[in-house]
Amino acid sequence: MDEIKPVAGQDYPRTWGEFQDWFASDEACAAYLEQLRWPNGFCCPACGVADAPGRATRGRLICRACRHQCSVTAGTIFDKTRTPLRVWFAAAGYVTNQKQGVSALGLQRVLGLNSYQTAWAMLHRFRRAMVRPDRDLLSGTVEVDETFVALRRRTGVKRKAARSSKAHDRSHLVAVAVAVEMLQPKGFGRVRLRRILGPTIDALMAFVREHIAPSATVRTDGSPIYAPLQDAGFDHDPHVMLGSKAPAHQPLPGVHRVAALLKRWLLGTHHGAVDPRHVDYYLDEFTFRFNRRTSRSRGMLFYRLIQQAALAGPVTYTDIRDNLPNQRPPQALPRLVELNG
Ligand SMILES: [Zn+2]
Repeated sequence: MDEIKPVAGQDYPRTWGEFQDWFASDEACAAYLEQLRWPNGFCCPACGVADAPGRATRGRLICRACRHQCSVTAGTIFDKTRTPLRVWFAAAGYVTNQKQGVSALGLQRVLGLNSYQTAWAMLHRFRRAMVRPDRDLLSGTVEVDETFVALRRRTGVKRKAARSSKAHDRSHLVAVAVAVEMLQPKGFGRVRLRRILGPTIDALMAFVREHIAPSATVRTDGSPIYAPLQDAGFDHDPHVMLGSKAPAHQPLPGVHRVAALLKRWLLGTHHGAVDPRHVDYYLDEFTFRFNRRTSRSRGMLFYRLIQQAALAGPVTYTDIRDNLPNQRPPQALPRLVELNG
């Protein structure tokens, strides 16, 4: 579906100036979103008939078959938000243009938003669109390890108070499973990261099964935690410091590097102030950025983000706060009677 290669200057803006020209009005943003949401033409979310829609006031679309009315944002992460689409697009442009991303406070300042909560919820909505649920499994040689990241809740208390002994209690160590594709002869491929309750056999085996193809070679350290990999059908390649053929000072350079980048990103962009309950969504953002680090154009990241935002399903502020998943987007199966008949 998204295998069509987007073209710079045609499918996404090449420069910031072009960006501002393209997305100067809510109407222009809605037209762009419509194109990405229905690349093969409008398909009614209620009845599934694929036909050019009628147009009503305020940009609403009307299905010619069942008269169902919808907006282009209904069923997307932009559903029922009061923020204008133009502001959403500016945020998406800024978030993807910044190599390391931006904190909620930073976004609030850049866009001149009234509240921190609005910026915070916008970033969380985007994070929920950064990882496609149907993405491919990692393959080839994949390094797997666990790491711990130190996080603290953003409490809103003044610095002085935070320095008291109680501040220490608000810091959490969170276990994160890391998988990195190792390319030949060198370099890293894609990554997957997930919060785990702890470095246990069950948690890590579940992580491996969910993210790594059964045909892959899984390289780990010598911990007995990974012993069941062989039984599970994976080609297991445990690397131990002693007795390995090639003496390496770092047996798992891929996960070591990615874990270091993750910690630097959490501390740098987010000052370590990440609610541990929401950490999986931050890991999704890190993954989105890392897996597209070689993209020649930042505009390409913007294109993917808006494309996935149109498909990710709506989510409310309460869903985000309470760490609930996105709602399912309304989707009737397309009825392509005229094509099949
Ligand atoms: Zn319809």
